[in-house]
Amino acid sequence: MRRIGYRTIDFIVDHLVNLGTSSTGRTAPGSEIRPRFDLDPPEEPTGFDAALETIARDVLANTVHVNHPRFFAFVPGPGNYVGALADAIASGFNVFNGTWFAGAGAAALELGMVNWLGRCCGMPESTGGLFVSGGSVANMSALAVARRAQLDDRMEGATIYFSDQTHSSVERALRVLGFRPGQLRRIACDQQYRLSMPALARSVAEDRAAGLRPFCVVGNAGTTNTGAVDPLPDMAEFTRREKLWLHVDGAYGAAAAVSERGRALLPGMGDADSLSLDPHKWLFQPFECGCFLVRDANLMKETFRIMPDYLQDVHRYPEVHPCDYGIQLTREFRALKLWLSLQTFGAAAFRGAIDRGLELAEYAERSLRARDGWVIESAAQMAIVCFRREPAGGDPDALHLDIVHSMLEDGFATLTSTNLRGRVVLRLCTINPRTTDEDIERTIDRLEYFAAKLA
Ligand SMILES: *Cc1c(COP(=O)(O)O)cnc(C)c1O
Repeated sequence: MRRIGYRTIDFIVDHLVNLGTSSTGRTAPGSEIRPRFDLDPPEEPTGFDAALETIARDVLANTVHVNHPRFFAFVPGPGNYVGALADAIASGFNVFNGTWFAGAGAAALELGMVNWLGRCCGMPESTGGLFVSGGSVANMSALAVARRAQLDDRMEGATIYFSDQTHSSVERALRVLGFRPGQLRRIACDQQYRLSMPALARSVAEDRAAGLRPFCVVGNAGTTNTGAVDPLPDMAEFTRREKLWLHVDGAYGAAAAVSERGRALLPGMGDADSLSLDPHKWLFQPFECGCFLVRDANLMKETFRIMPDYLQDVHRYPEVHPCDYGIQLTREFRALKLWLSLQTFGAAAFRGAIDRGLELAEYAERSLRARDGWVIESAAQMAIVCFRREPAGGDPDALHLDIVHSMLEDGFATLTSTNLRGRVVLRLCTINPRTTDEDIERTIDRLEYFAAKLA
């Protein structure tokens, strides 16, 4: 056990130490790697070392490293080593984080982390929460509470509102929860990609006039596309007046509230009835570490708690049983990684790392503006900047998509594109605190190289 354990640690540490000087990784054609795994497991032992070599050669060598300091695509997953060790401890002890009965310490630690996140986000003491796999499940869980609290689960004629920049996980959650597409209202944004309040008010009024039942508004604390923050204070006032539930999707940006600077960018977030956040993004945790908070913890219990006979001994303990607050009974101990890394590094290191992400996008924007041939399409906000090559010649959209593809093949740095106002733009998401200014400069050099080559 010790030998293969130490070997595994060496394997991980070698990866992390060499990450910045190696390629961002590769994707691979199915024809190349599917056959390597389309096999029944061996009857006789292969042995740990041989299997580890297979993992290195066939899995990890065909991975794009989202923790690489020059991975700027989608939302990076910087991760952290102490968090990874916490996952090993949680697995090694196979801690059951579903009930107080079996996991009192784990439940208490998780509650402590939920309460801390709630305070960081400006939520009141009545707030409850639960760690889940990620933002998608956080959104779905929170919207299930909203459905219960606002509609008593009667969905006929109920309508829900969110900006056209809202993450697709919200739409998917609503689909799974049983809402039809006709019950979803996509509200237009202003020039800065924030939900338009007049458009929201109009849509709600129209629906009420038509005899429908508006019940919820979803706001963004940092959109995935541009980092835009919806006008949350106005939305909170509106939803209070209209007796609607305000859910805030902070899966991308809410964690920034841990830092002073980040919190100043997220006014009104604490007025949400529910809030999703993703410590596996901007709080640097290994996947899967998401969380949702609900202003009135009792509503979570009303939504999710069921008391079967075989758990009667559990419910004799008048304590918090995590299984009563979400859809999982057996749960891995996700809060441990956040707790252990906060203890090890201290909260100040996290604040600094968040601020570093904010600064890196601003640095990238300055560098792009100082060079010829780049147009900023969405200025740096919440560690995201979007930009475009101009003049691009030929088919500009195709050029930008080809640049992304060439960068992926090249492996020096990885970024992705998105669409803004009907045009393809390049996008850098800079939440990895291990990224250097030099990484940004060399990445833009590389973009210029491919832009010239492909033009
Ligand atoms: C990433 C993201 C999600 C989905 O979270 P997962 O952890 O990928 O499930 C939801 N909303 C926003 C704004 C996000 O950025």
